[in-house]
Amino acid sequence: MTSPDSSASAVPPTPRNATASAGKAYLVGAGPGDLGLVTLRARDLIARAQLVIYDYLCNPEMLRWAPPGAEILYAGKKAKAHTLTQDQINDALVQAVRAGKLVVRLKGGDPYVFGRGGEEAEALYAQGLAFEVVPGVTSAVAAPAYAGIPITHRDHASAVMFITGHEDPTKETSSLDWPLLARFAGTRVFLMGVERLPIITQRLIDEGAAPDTPAALVRWGTTPRQGSLAGTLATIAALREQHDFRPPAILVVGGVVACRAALGWFERRPLFGRRVVVTRTREQASALSDLLRERGADVLEIPTIRTVAATLSTAETAWLAGWKSGVEKPHWLVFTSPNGVEYFMRSFLACAGGDIRALQGIRIASVGPGTTKKLAAYYISVDRQPETFTAEALGCCFAPDEVRGKRICLARGNLANPELPAALLAAGAAEVRGLTVYETSPAPAAAADSDSPIPDARARFEAEGAHFIAFASSSAAESWAALNLAPQGDAPIPRAISIGPETSKALRKLGIEIAAEAQSSTVAGLSDAVCAAANISGCSQTS
Ligand code: SAH
Repeated sequence: MTSPDSSASAVPPTPRNATASAGKAYLVGAGPGDLGLVTLRARDLIARAQLVIYDYLCNPEMLRWAPPGAEILYAGKKAKAHTLTQDQINDALVQAVRAGKLVVRLKGGDPYVFGRGGEEAEALYAQGLAFEVVPGVTSAVAAPAYAGIPITHRDHASAVMFITGHEDPTKETSSLDWPLLARFAGTRVFLMGVERLPIITQRLIDEGAAPDTPAALVRWGTTPRQGSLAGTLATIAALREQHDFRPPAILVVGGVVACRAALGWFERRPLFGRRVVVTRTREQASALSDLLRERGADVLEIPTIRTVAATLSTAETAWLAGWKSGVEKPHWLVFTSPNGVEYFMRSFLACAGGDIRALQGIRIASVGPGTTKKLAAYYISVDRQPETFTAEALGCCFAPDEVRGKRICLARGNLANPELPAALLAAGAAEVRGLTVYETSPAPAAAADSDSPIPDARARFEAEGAHFIAFASSSAAESWAALNLAPQGDAPIPRAISIGPETSKALRKLGIEIAAEAQSSTVAGLSDAVCAAANISGCSQTS
């Protein structure tokens, strides 16, 4: 209600931050680490943010969702290495919202679970500024779940406590009721407890908890760096010491820990604990990366090659344009890679006035399923695909009279295998015309913006090494060798996995030893070969 005598009564009261401002802060849970556990709401807000303030425990990969031009601010908080104080963070939030910005304050896990989110919201409220909260999947639940520990279970625990391990249990003024924690019959989940682990466990025992109460630590839960360690209240601190098990980690105390042996699904995945380099162009990497991640691998996508459309000569352009009226049309159009299809179609449609019917009557051959799938995306079905997916097999998969006297067009990249045209000519083709539709070049060196908070795969490779490197083409092998990257110190040197015989041939020529070759020259075959090389049965990582 507006007051009747106020001169301002004709207009609604002005909110304090109404000046320019649709400014608002969103306190957003970034989840425990696995990018798949971030909420849709979080992703949507990051994609609209003008300022993102993030913490040490947020997976920085999600910063890729921010729009170009968004300001990204690191608020830090690695134990003992605070980058900004809490007051500075509150100030930064207040200033930005006041200036009318859409601010996303990203916090690991859930913003209100030991994340000081409450204080930040209060600071905004005190200034009359708008905010919203987006809950996240907390590590207190997710890390145990990924380690095979359900925090409640009808047989073990009907209640859960989330406890800060930051408090000094020897302090007189501790705000925790230790006798209650020791007596509690449910699951006790401690966050931030690694540093004080010996005193936490001792205090619980001193206050009457059974020393053989099961206890487990889960570090970097839900990420490829996850590790877990189980013992009892009496042993877990010594085990931690022995395994040099470092934070961030969750301590779970209670009967539910016993479930871990049966339910520890995440660390049992075949490629868990294995780092695999994927060497493909940025555009193509994701299918292979997805398959490998699904099997638990820590994937480093290092682009080695970049493809660009080749400029066709005037004669080539005129030739393609002529197909529309049937002039010099080839009998066969042959594709040896998905890139070949993509770049050919772009050039061809430009020459043929965008009319796919100019391909009518031409028979289509494809080297394998990836290429065939790409053709299908253009609603083109293939007339021929060899049983094994190599250029050599492709050269042999025609009947003699399909080739003899025929005109064949090969739409390929500049580094394509010269043996295929030779084989087709030897088989009696009247003409084999290579059309170079794309060019392959080494990917540019380091990321343009070396200050970027988004982890650079090359830098990670050099620092941490990898167990395997998956080669999906001979040109990727060649460009990888040209990059001359090597892991530092005793970081593992990756073993090469090849997609098929041609890539293997190129690798051998480069002096790269091959640990395994895919049985089927497809992305799925390559992923299977990585698993085979990792010797699935012998690679359990759980301790
Ligand atoms: N708001 C966060 C917790 C912040 S307190 C959340 O809801 O998850 C920081 C503590 O969280 C760390 O000391 C550690 O105990 C825990 N933590 C956060 N991410 C973790 C992860 N991926 N694995 C294990 N512990 C994690």
